[in-house]
Amino acid sequence: MQRRVCPLCLLPKQIVRSHLTPQALYRDMRVKDGGVPDPVVVSDGTRAHQTSLQITRDLLCSDCEGVLSRDGENYVLRECQREDSFPLQERLRQAPRVVSGNTAFFPAREIPGIDVDALTHFAVGVVWKAAVCTWQLGQSKPIRVDLPPNLLHRARYYLRAGAPLPAEMLVSLSVPGETDAPAFFTPPKTYALRPFQRIAFYVPGLEFQITIGRREELAQLRESSLSGSQEGWVRVASAWELPSVRGMLQLTADVEPSAALGRWLEVATPPN
Ligand SMILES: [Zn+2]
Repeated sequence: MQRRVCPLCLLPKQIVRSHLTPQALYRDMRVKDGGVPDPVVVSDGTRAHQTSLQITRDLLCSDCEGVLSRDGENYVLRECQREDSFPLQERLRQAPRVVSGNTAFFPAREIPGIDVDALTHFAVGVVWKAAVCTWQLGQSKPIRVDLPPNLLHRARYYLRAGAPLPAEMLVSLSVPGETDAPAFFTPPKTYALRPFQRIAFYVPGLEFQITIGRREELAQLRESSLSGSQEGWVRVASAWELPSVRGMLQLTADVEPSAALGRWLEVATPPN
């Protein structure tokens, strides 16, 4: 172990191995009956592939790792899609909702067992880690997102010191409605969505989007977001309508899927 300044608490500490997303997420990811255990979808620029490699590097001290686990990761690990269960989706099944077309919105703050603050902390933690340094998965393209320095700094205060979430940041959460939605992980990626910047990533059953913009520009989006609304809205739609799932399919259309990913996609192909 090396001793240097931990970028989350800014104290000189022993630095330990950090995961971009918790190790246990990878352990539990599989497509039902698919028999392919490694659906982590990334691209090296010429080929989209799945891998069992974990996205790790020496980054934080063990105290900060503990804070990220306690305040967000542990909850997400319990509630995300697993091989045989999807606790968060089950909680939504019985809950009141507002339906708009093919999409349903659930006021998560009113639903027992849904921890909006933990979901938000997890999403911001993953994006902060992806912004504070570059991550690499095998030979794939480096994984990194850009956050303005001022926002990176205030996100650190939110994550580590319990400061309010910066008003220029909104977290949204979408959940697939199907019980057999494809389970996979895609690392954080930035999309320009003028006048906003949006960073999205997917862990099994949970699509997180972090929208960054000026406070007044975000006012309308805030009302339907997880982190900014009083209700803590969670959106449920068909998996095939979620941008991450479409992006996963697009990625494999743009660049040739590896043989293993091709087999997995056969299992995960949308219904006609
Ligand atoms: Zn630390």
